[in-house]
Amino acid sequence: MPARARGLPRGLAPLISQAQIYRRLSAMARAIPRRIPVRERPIAIVVLQGAFIFAADLLRRLPSTYDIDVAFLRCQSYGSGTKSSGRVMLLQDIDSEIDLRGRTVLLIDDILDSGLTLKFLTDHLKRRGAKRIRVCVLLHRNPGSNASGIVPDLAGFPVRSEFVVGYGLDYAGRYRHLPGLAALVRHAHSGKKQ
Ligand code: 5GP
Ligand code: MG
Repeated sequence: MPARARGLPRGLAPLISQAQIYRRLSAMARAIPRRIPVRERPIAIVVLQGAFIFAADLLRRLPSTYDIDVAFLRCQSYGSGTKSSGRVMLLQDIDSEIDLRGRTVLLIDDILDSGLTLKFLTDHLKRRGAKRIRVCVLLHRNPGSNASGIVPDLAGFPVRSEFVVGYGLDYAGRYRHLPGLAALVRHAHSGKKQ
C-alpha cells in the first residue's frame, strides 16, 4: 500500500487532501464578496447532507464584516448506491418564514454531476422568489459536459468518473467523517450489500 493511502478504510483511494481543500477554500471565500456584493442581501442555502462540512469550512473563511444569512434544505437523488435515481426529491425545504424575494442565493452543494439536482433546486428557489442564484460546489464532474445547463459560479475541484466520498460525501451513509476526499475503489464494493 502506498504511504499516502495509509489511514484510509479499505476500498478507498486518496484523491484530494484536507490541506489541498483548505487552500482552495480560502481562494473561494475571497471570491464570494467580489461576486455577490453585500447590498444584494445574500443568503447561503446549503444542500444537506453532502455539503455540510464544505459549507461550514467555506462560510467560516468569509470576512466577518460580510453579512450573509445561512439556511439549509435537504435533497436526495441517490438513495444508497453510486448511481443517481434520475429523480430529485426535496426531503426538507428551507424554513417557511424565510422570504427570498429580491435576494441573492449562494447555493452550496457538494458536487455538480448531471446537474439535475441543482437545476431542480434553482427552479424551486426562483419559484420562492429568489432574484439571483449563484451556484457554488466543491466538486464538478467533467466540467463542460452536463446537459442541464447548470454552470457553477464557483467550483473547488474538477473530478472525473470516480465516485467520491469523505469530507461530507457518503457511500450508503458511510465515510462522511473522513477529513479529505477519497475515491471508491469499485471492485472492492461491487456485488456486496454493505
Ligand atoms: P446530479 O443531480 O448533479 O447528477 O448529482 C448531484 C448529487 O449527486 C450530489 O449532490 C451528490 O449528492 C450526488 N453525487 C454525485 N456524484 C457523487 C459522488 O461521486 N459521490 C457522492 N457521495 N455523491 C455524489
Ligand atoms: Mg447532494
